Amino acid sequence: MTTPGAPLAHGLVLAVDGTSGSGKSSTCRGAAERLGLAYLDTGAQFRAVTWWMLEHGVDVHDPDAVAARAGEPTLVSGTDPLNPTIHVDGVDVAVEIRTQRVTDAVSPVSTVPAVRARLLELQRQIIAEAREGAGIVVEGRDIGSVVAPDAPVKLYLTADPEARAARRAAEQGSADAAALAATRASLLDRDRIDSGRATAPLTLAEGAVHLDTTPFSLDEVVAQVVALAEAVGAGA
Ligand code: C5P
Repeated sequence: MTTPGAPLAHGLVLAVDGTSGSGKSSTCRGAAERLGLAYLDTGAQFRAVTWWMLEHGVDVHDPDAVAARAGEPTLVSGTDPLNPTIHVDGVDVAVEIRTQRVTDAVSPVSTVPAVRARLLELQRQIIAEAREGAGIVVEGRDIGSVVAPDAPVKLYLTADPEARAARRAAEQGSADAAALAATRASLLDRDRIDSGRATAPLTLAEGAVHLDTTPFSLDEVVAQVVALAEAVGAGA
C-alpha cells in the first residue's frame, strides 16, 4: 500500500532501464525532481565517449581501436535533474551527443568492454556520493543488473515501437511518414545491438518492475514511479 508523500529512505537509489525511446529520460528527470533526488543519465555518458571517439578519428566499428583509447576522455556528469550536464575534456557536449552521427555510432561503441568498465567506475562513484545524500535516479540499460544491482527500486520501461517512434519524431519536430520510419528503424537497431551484446546487455533485471508506458502520459508514468519510491521509503 503506497503512502502518498511518505518520507523517502535516505540515499535511495532508483535503477531505471529500458529500450531506446521508452520515455526513460523524461520519466527519470520528472521523478527525480519530484522526489528531490539527483539524476544520472548513463546514456549521455556513452554518447559522450562516442562523440570523443568520432572527434578523434577512431573507427567506432573497430572494437580494438575503441578499447585502445577508452581510457583517454575525461567525463564530468552534472546530476541536477533540472539541468543535467555532460562535459568531455572540459567541453560541454550536451547538444553534440544528440546528433544522428552520435546516435548511429553509440551502440557499437557501447559493446566494447573497456568502455563499459571505464564508465562503470565513474557511475559507481557518482552513485556512492549520492547515497550519502538524498539519493539518485539512474537511467540506462544495465543499471539494475550490473551498475547498481542492490538498488531498492528497479524499473524496466518499454513502449510499443510505434509509440516510441512517434514520441521521438515529435521531439525532433519531424512527423512525416519517412521520418517516422527512419526513427523506428534506428530505435529498433539500437535495441537489437544493446540486447544482444556479450557484456552487460539490456535485460529485465532481477526484481525489476516492468512498466509498459505505451498507454500512459508522461505525468502518469512519473506518478507511478514516485509512488513506487515512496512505497519503499515507507517500508512497504
Ligand atoms: O539512453 P540513450 O538512448 O541515450 O543511450 C544511448 C546508448 O548508450 C544506448 O543505445 C546503449 O547503446 C548505450 N547505453 C548502454 N548502457 C547504459 C546506457 C546507455 O550501453 N547503461
